[in-house]
Amino acid sequence: MKKDYHIHSYFSKDSKLDPDKLIQKAIELNYQEIAFTDHLEFLFPQWSFHEEYSYQDYYDFFSLLKAKYAPKINILSGVEIGEYHQTKTQVTDYFGHLKPDLILGSIHTLLPKKDISLPFQEPLSPAEIISYYKSNLELVETCDLDILAHLGIFTRFLPHNIKVGLPICKDIFQVMKEKNIALEINFSGLRKTTKQFLPHFQVLDLYAMEEGKLISIGSDTHQLSDFDDNYDNVLSILDEKGYPFLVV
Ligand SMILES: [Zn+2]
Ligand SMILES: [Zn+2]
Repeated sequence: MKKDYHIHSYFSKDSKLDPDKLIQKAIELNYQEIAFTDHLEFLFPQWSFHEEYSYQDYYDFFSLLKAKYAPKINILSGVEIGEYHQTKTQVTDYFGHLKPDLILGSIHTLLPKKDISLPFQEPLSPAEIISYYKSNLELVETCDLDILAHLGIFTRFLPHNIKVGLPICKDIFQVMKEKNIALEINFSGLRKTTKQFLPHFQVLDLYAMEEGKLISIGSDTHQLSDFDDNYDNVLSILDEKGYPFLVV
């Protein structure tokens, strides 16, 4: 079953993608299910849709598209929440009585405010790498997520030795197992110069060793040409590796 659980539309301020066009492309390419996961960022409103739209607006918009394209394709109306663990009250208030179909939890910054989701100059120090993984641990411990997104995002632009983070990854995976949180295989890195999977194979090997099962596949699409790019590649690489993962 062809699925993509990480897509940004024009609701995200860093995307101009028309959801309708994306859905048509997905149907042509035989996707059975896709999830729109626009940025909800209370610490960084410059990426987020919450200042312009109520959650009801967003929800209603995708409800119409769901109805328009059923049963050709199943559309999930999700969100990618940045630094959720630091903004829990705002997020809960914003959703009100509504519930997204899918919640991606993401760390995009190092405290206090260093953005590591965009290209940066110097590789992170070991202390910064540790602090990054600790934030991910806190995120999975304290928030209700369906998916932990792009673990190790800072490696998307510069190579790093992530060894210092592996013990914390182990703790992260234990919590995820207990709470049935899936690990995202984010292949946006294949479109960048590093050509890396997020997370790295080192981390995926550890996930398999710790008996992590659930994964999701996410292109992190921000424009139409991102969608489906490398998708078959990703499936065959995972297949070759022989991981016992289950795609949610
Ligand atoms: Zn984005
Ligand atoms: Zn993200």
